[in-house]
Amino acid sequence: MALTRTYITEACAMEKWDSNEGTSAFHVPEWMIQFADQKQEFNKRPTKIGRRSLSRSISQSSTDSYSSAASYTDSSDDETSPRDKQQKNSKGSGDFCVKNIKQAEFGRREIEIAEQEMPALMALRKRAQGEKPLAGAKIVGCTHITAQTAVLMETLGALGAQCRWAACNIYSTLNEVAAALAESGFPVFAWKGESEDDFWWCIDRCVNVEGWQPNMILDDGGDLTHWIYKKYPNMFKKIKGIVEESVTGVHRLYQLSKAGKLCVPAMNVNDSVTKQKFDNLYCCRESILDGLKRTTDMMFGGKQVVVCGYGEVGKGCCAALKAMGSIVYVTEIDPICALQACMDGFRLVKLNEVIRQVDIVITCTGNKNVVTREHLDRMKNSCIVCNMGHSNTEIDVASLRTPELTWERVRSQVDHVIWPDGKRIVLLAEGRLLNLSCSTVPTFVLSITATTQALALIELYNAPEGRYKQDVYLLPKKMDEYVASLHLPTFDAHLTELTDEQAKYLGLNKNGPFKPNYYRY
Ligand code: NAD
Repeated sequence: MALTRTYITEACAMEKWDSNEGTSAFHVPEWMIQFADQKQEFNKRPTKIGRRSLSRSISQSSTDSYSSAASYTDSSDDETSPRDKQQKNSKGSGDFCVKNIKQAEFGRREIEIAEQEMPALMALRKRAQGEKPLAGAKIVGCTHITAQTAVLMETLGALGAQCRWAACNIYSTLNEVAAALAESGFPVFAWKGESEDDFWWCIDRCVNVEGWQPNMILDDGGDLTHWIYKKYPNMFKKIKGIVEESVTGVHRLYQLSKAGKLCVPAMNVNDSVTKQKFDNLYCCRESILDGLKRTTDMMFGGKQVVVCGYGEVGKGCCAALKAMGSIVYVTEIDPICALQACMDGFRLVKLNEVIRQVDIVITCTGNKNVVTREHLDRMKNSCIVCNMGHSNTEIDVASLRTPELTWERVRSQVDHVIWPDGKRIVLLAEGRLLNLSCSTVPTFVLSITATTQALALIELYNAPEGRYKQDVYLLPKKMDEYVASLHLPTFDAHLTELTDEQAKYLGLNKNGPFKPNYYRY
């Protein structure tokens, strides 16, 4: 069945990003204001110190530490900046900038491992053979550069697209993977440990190319989109659409749309059902234990844990800890989520009521100052404190930077904060996202996200003129269902088909969509 025919032409009924629902939880990012004042000369090569000392505050997603897999071939004594190296791949191309092209073979192995857990992308490659729904697409991307992203990029390539790529995070690039991509001909500009100046230089190298202009953007965090807005606004004449993955980036797009400044259609893949469920619920259910174990080696059975927030992330964390035999308390502000916690067998408490007795405190509210200095003062000795929410302000870490408290770095991402009486708490990842900082994210989860990104790109690229306006859209339900269905064969899962009679009875098309847009999964 032709991919474009079946799944792409049905997208006319795209839902519009609901402004009220979509923004209520977020604040206007300072980023947009700061960006307007930012002027840097990118042809000048700053000194090492100069690179580090740039005052530009880059976005959360650009600076959060994110360790996807151990980098086993990196030689830490190679201090030379990749920008100062002349490198060529085996075909003689030098159109890339990575740490060390010689690491390509190791990166290729990582990519091959990731392919095993990314069945939908591999299926898309097979289905699109000969059809090439992205023929002529010139995609500029800015995402974490990991083995999973490499599988996505190579899938986009197999679907006919040309890609140029930079990293959306200065720490998250897997150097071996970037090398493997460069070796197979992808112009990749990224390495682990970029300075802020390097970060923007890499983005610029992706878009500022003679004889090549992007016509699609794939962004994670919005930095690439805004770089083009600020430096090369004329490029938007040729750009057919933006696909954005992150909460922050989607929020920025919405701000642009509201200000009437969004000049191309954009697709918000962050809020597709499959992504939300897998990224938030299932991913956190698996990675909370991984993050805690790697940093503390602790045993969970019998431990008292309080989880702040019983949304998708909180539900995942609670389920995992309960399964390990922990005694789990939940705090909530919303009576519906609070009731869900009760029905799931958790004790709903106020943080103050349990703060003296718990062994672990986990925040996952998306809110700020949920754990205050007062709470931290009252915690018992050796209490572990960590955050699974987006921002690093859920725990008031700044309040711990006072002279009477001593900080001891005991392991990477693990600090002991010691009170004058000898009490210490164990702070993980300095209050940043625990799982992204200290564990891996399951490839299968990333497969879902990558598949939604690929389908959104195909849709925007192939959409006839006028289908999408200069606005932010959600992935159509039918595509969401398609993403899920592409992952079912992994489990040898057998989906029941509606009979004609049943379809008529329910008022559904036998091929979906199977739920109304307002359905809550
Ligand atoms: P959600 O909105 O479903 O859940 C958050 C819950 O916190 C809500 O039920 C809300 O009522 C509750 N809450 C808000 N303030 C509170 C407070 N002061 N005390 C107690 N509860 C409070 O959101 P979610 O999908 O669960 O995501 C939560 C956070 O995790 C967000 O910041 C999100 O960006 C982030 N996130 C992290 C990961 C990860 O891998 N770690 C993945 C997805 C999302």
